[in-house]
Amino acid sequence: MQEIDFYRADSLDDLYRLLAETGGRVIAGGTDALVQMQRDAFPAAVVIDASRIADLRYIREDGDRIEIGALTTYADLLASSLVRRAAPSLIAAAETVGAPQTRARGTLGGNIANASPAGDTLPPLLALDASVTLSSARGVRILPLGEVLRGPRQTCLEPGEIIASIAFRRLPQPSGSAFIKLSNRRGMSIAVVSVAAALALDAAGRIAEGRVALGAVAPTAVRSPAAESVLAGEVPGAETFRRAARAALDDIAPIGDVRATAAYRREAAARLVVRALNGAWEHAGGRAGA
Ligand SMILES: Cc1cc2nc3c(=O)[nH]c(=O)nc-3n(C[C@H](O)[C@H](O)[C@H](O)COP(=O)(O)OP(=O)(O)OC[C@H]3O[C@@H](n4cnc5c(N)ncnc54)[C@H](O)[C@@H]3O)c2cc1C
Repeated sequence: MQEIDFYRADSLDDLYRLLAETGGRVIAGGTDALVQMQRDAFPAAVVIDASRIADLRYIREDGDRIEIGALTTYADLLASSLVRRAAPSLIAAAETVGAPQTRARGTLGGNIANASPAGDTLPPLLALDASVTLSSARGVRILPLGEVLRGPRQTCLEPGEIIASIAFRRLPQPSGSAFIKLSNRRGMSIAVVSVAAALALDAAGRIAEGRVALGAVAPTAVRSPAAESVLAGEVPGAETFRRAARAALDDIAPIGDVRATAAYRREAAARLVVRALNGAWEHAGGRAGA
């Protein structure tokens, strides 16, 4: 195992100072970082444990805006009635992560910073049009999540910068969201393909806004502009959802690996888009199972 110097920060100022002085890297729950350390693959010789900084662990509502501190764990999300109401897709994703131990330690900020193409919270957050607040001793930047994710395990974070929080706006009612993960076993499993959808309906029951995001089918989790432009203004239902699913295939570039072939991932992605849209429609009060 790698030799790594360990520091613990008790406040944000302490964290920024340690990051500047040591050139180290922050860790939160450590659930990804420790696995990387065991494989000698952690990209730093100094780690700074941020897990005790209470200012980074919260779930807040301000009007229609929900903000979640980066150190919020999956268990925190699952215990939040606010998140359950505002973002059932994010709850569905948190439920599928690892085991109870992983959900007790692993954080939302860590899932984003780790930037796995298969990270479970990424499709729901993309479909919620989430933005990420990055902070450092130099100041604050707020970016759409899609701009933070740059490639497998790559983000736009600069040295000394951390993910401070994630925010999204509730869609106007009636609206709903859903997340579906396909994996090779029921628990403790990485997504073979995952899809999140969010729908807002207008007074006539048409789709005012439809968003689709997919995981494990491109170098990062991605939104599907092609599927979203099919959905806009349409009557929700099987025919529309199937057209959106076909369009989504233009926005993905799956690879084959030990979990699935590229062809299987494309086929699965199309089916999961239909199911996720059905789920979002059902949450929005529409007819399920069309
Ligand atoms: C047994 C097991 C099962 C798992 N199952 C799943 C699963 O089903 N789905 C899934 O998506 N993931 C899964 N994971 C991966 C992991 O639990 C999640 O990605 C988790 O959210 C990582 O959060 P963390 O706080 O533990 O991150 P850490 O391990 O502390 O950090 C991960 C990376 O993010 C960086 N980082 C962490 N927080 C910040 C921050 N605030 N700002 C900047 N950089 C930061 C660290 O430097 C590091 O590079 C699993 C892991 C294990 C060990």
